[in-house]
Amino acid sequence: MTVFTDLFIDGEWRPGSGDQRFDVIDPADLSTIGRFAIATEQDCMDAVDAAAAAQPAWAATPPRERGELLRTAYELLTDEVETVAELMVRENGKSWADAIGEANYAKEFFRWFSEEAVRIPGDYRLAPSGDKRIIVDRQPIGVSLLITPWNFPAAMATRKLGPALAAGCTTILKPARETPLTAAYIVDVLRRAGVPRGVVNLVTPSPTGLLVKLMIDRPEVRKVSFTGSTEVGRELLHACADSVVSTSMELGGNAPLIVLPGADIDSTVAGALLAKMRNGGSACTAANRFYVHSSVHDEFVARMDAALAAIPVGPGLERSNGLGALVSVQERDKVARLVDAAVAGGATVVRGGRASRDGAFYDATLLTGVEHGSAINVTEIFGPVTAVVRFDEVDEAVRMANDTVYGLMAYVFGEERAAVDVARRLEVGMVAINRGVVSDPAAPFGGVKQSGLGREGGAEGILEFLEEKYLALTA
Ligand code: NAP
Repeated sequence: MTVFTDLFIDGEWRPGSGDQRFDVIDPADLSTIGRFAIATEQDCMDAVDAAAAAQPAWAATPPRERGELLRTAYELLTDEVETVAELMVRENGKSWADAIGEANYAKEFFRWFSEEAVRIPGDYRLAPSGDKRIIVDRQPIGVSLLITPWNFPAAMATRKLGPALAAGCTTILKPARETPLTAAYIVDVLRRAGVPRGVVNLVTPSPTGLLVKLMIDRPEVRKVSFTGSTEVGRELLHACADSVVSTSMELGGNAPLIVLPGADIDSTVAGALLAKMRNGGSACTAANRFYVHSSVHDEFVARMDAALAAIPVGPGLERSNGLGALVSVQERDKVARLVDAAVAGGATVVRGGRASRDGAFYDATLLTGVEHGSAINVTEIFGPVTAVVRFDEVDEAVRMANDTVYGLMAYVFGEERAAVDVARRLEVGMVAINRGVVSDPAAPFGGVKQSGLGREGGAEGILEFLEEKYLALTA
């Protein structure tokens, strides 16, 4: 397998101009699997220059050509899906099933946006006065800085690159420090698919905040599309305010999962397992707060316990393991601290509650008697911990579910009519009803409140990279 460890600027792989590198670590055994180039200020400015120089020609490239290029990239990724999965297992620690699932999901963004490139909408209307014709054109917004997190290293990159390229924007991809190898591989797929020089660039700057700000301050940069924590998102919103740069923000979540009276426990446990354990719990959409009605609480807990016990834990390269490592020892320790505090606060450990393997692993854990408003209930756990709160009144469950600054995702299990009624009352961007996963390239993904601004995927995703231009014509 070819592993790329350099920056990609103006169509070429090159080491950082400061000739410095950082280690990429396999969290399953803590070995170093690569030394990736650090981008200096000069490298970041070169990336902006390259993207700016390529912008006019890329915007003028016929949509069909942009779409076909994305389609070629989709086909290459289809052939190489196992390579992408292996890179993610190695640098992120996730299980093989999660990695292959993500690699397949990631490539679909290139297919979806290859089809959207030729369907960019416009509008025509006659002014009410009858004195003019109004044409609304949509044009690429311009050079786009795409900043991605470590938890979905492939899908978060393609979910941004796909619509940006389809819209006619040139790009600078800035992957997370923990997972640059997958992002670099995807950039090389685009290179092989024939993306012209300067249209896609990749930098890994250090110090991140300072150098990202310098890129945002360049007048050529017109868009920042960010996926990551709410804390960093807030900082970036401030940074973008200075030069009034357009932003799309996919931020943190604290998803409630509500089990209503009368819920079918078989399908609820199957859905809850997916909602909690996909990606080892390291997902912005992961069910974080389980609100379970008293009438089904004990059966749900017993069945969830049995289901968690059946998941084999270990390195993702052993394909039968269902739960891999967390991304780092720091993340594992953060999860452990949240569990320890919950237990000190009176929660009961039904299963797990410790790290029983070497490496960045944490045991699949089930807690009951968790208090609404406690640290584990208000913090994104980002690990394999099911934290259950019991409720008696549905109104109380809705109140608790909405009692958070986040608003990305929620899950409701129950009789469909009752579940839809509850779903309508939840302050979130997405609700899964009697199912454990919502992600789909054809659907608008995103949150409300402090979980973000804008949507990715669906017909909406490409609009984030387009700007309306109004042409007034004589009637
Ligand atoms: P993070 O710490 O916010 O980092 C995300 C990205 O931002 C990384 O590339 C990071 O680079 C960069 N970054 C850090 N500080 C920065 C700064 N001051 N200015 C500009 N960029 C900066 O998030 P994470 O820990 O990687 O990912 C987990 C978070 O992402 C969770 O909160 C999760 O909910 C969220 N997430 C949201 C979605 C969604 O669609 N809503 C999807 C996935 C994940 P360095 O690595 O160089 O620090």
